[in-house]
Amino acid sequence: MSAAVPNVSRLRIPASAPTLAIDLAAIAANTRRFAETTRGELMAVVKADGFGHGLADVARTALGNGATWLGVTSIEEGVAVRAAGVAAPVLSWLNPVDCDIETGYRHQLDLAVPSVSHLDAIIRSGCPVRVHLQLDTGMARDGAAPEEWFELVAAARRAEVAGRITVVGVMGHLAMADRPGHPANAAGRTALLCGAEMVTRAGLRPKVRHLAGTAATLTDPSTHLDLVRIGVGLVGIDPSGSTRLRSALRLTAPVVQLRRVPAGTGIGYGHTEVTERPTTLALLPLGYADGLPRTASGRAEALVAGRRRPVAGLISMDQTVLDLGDEPVDPGTDAVLFGPGDDGEPTVDDWAEWAGTIPHEIVTRIGSRVRRCVR
Ligand SMILES: *Cc1c(COP(=O)(O)O)cnc(C)c1O
Repeated sequence: MSAAVPNVSRLRIPASAPTLAIDLAAIAANTRRFAETTRGELMAVVKADGFGHGLADVARTALGNGATWLGVTSIEEGVAVRAAGVAAPVLSWLNPVDCDIETGYRHQLDLAVPSVSHLDAIIRSGCPVRVHLQLDTGMARDGAAPEEWFELVAAARRAEVAGRITVVGVMGHLAMADRPGHPANAAGRTALLCGAEMVTRAGLRPKVRHLAGTAATLTDPSTHLDLVRIGVGLVGIDPSGSTRLRSALRLTAPVVQLRRVPAGTGIGYGHTEVTERPTTLALLPLGYADGLPRTASGRAEALVAGRRRPVAGLISMDQTVLDLGDEPVDPGTDAVLFGPGDDGEPTVDDWAEWAGTIPHEIVTRIGSRVRRCVR
């Protein structure tokens, strides 16, 4: 290594830096709420780094507060769950046919099986994996098409009799769960129950039928079946808008620079905003590379010294400017980009609205430069 390369580990991280604080007590409370809501088992879905909250922390917190299963979307995420010392059953879906089945088996991962080709790959691997037969219950997305289901079930039965797999589950997913009462929900539920019935009639004995995510679990008990799969609800987001959950994230960044500018000053790239009067601008050292959606420019706000201040001009890759008006603050003051909302700070929901997206996208995109602080 060249002598000119600094030893990064010796850098002192300033007391104040862009920080994502993760409140595990909120995740624990949300988990308990879901465990109380259903008589079935509770699977904590910890994909996408626990919806941006930390896979291992969310997994352990959920299991300590009523969850009995974990759900992920790949063998890699499943291995990460096991590396966190988790012994509970783990289901992985969305695996390509050529995924590393042997590694999955060695880590005792259950695999979703959405097609005969996926089943054949498991049989070829020689690993007697536990599987969940996955039916498309109305999304034209993951899962077997209804017209392929009979063939898949028959092949699964032959494979189980031959000792090549064990069928432990049947699963589907709902497209319209955030719209309670939509006919697609009842249709999806009927599709899953009929699909599970075919599985039983073929002589298989799956222990769990599962369909519901957060929204269906909160709004329609008839979808709970034997197990519910809860992801975004654990971290405080309710897509159905029916229930108050506790948000677990707080994103802060220090003011690194203050500028007094006259009227007529263009701010940032493209001068999308020009000051109408003299004002004080505050610079924050984070931008869209850190997960602030650029499309929220012109609408977004942050809380600084107890007051909401508008973002001025376009959010850049690494920088965001706030307009403080005539109430400057000390350099180093922390701005709160979002939090649970207790002190008047914006929420994840606010950012989603400003950006024209859903809160899921805001929480799963906070960049790796933002340091994490788990409470
Ligand atoms: C992400 C996901 C879930 C969790 O859904 P939430 O709405 O986040 O609770 C459940 N099941 C499947 C198949 C998923 O992909």
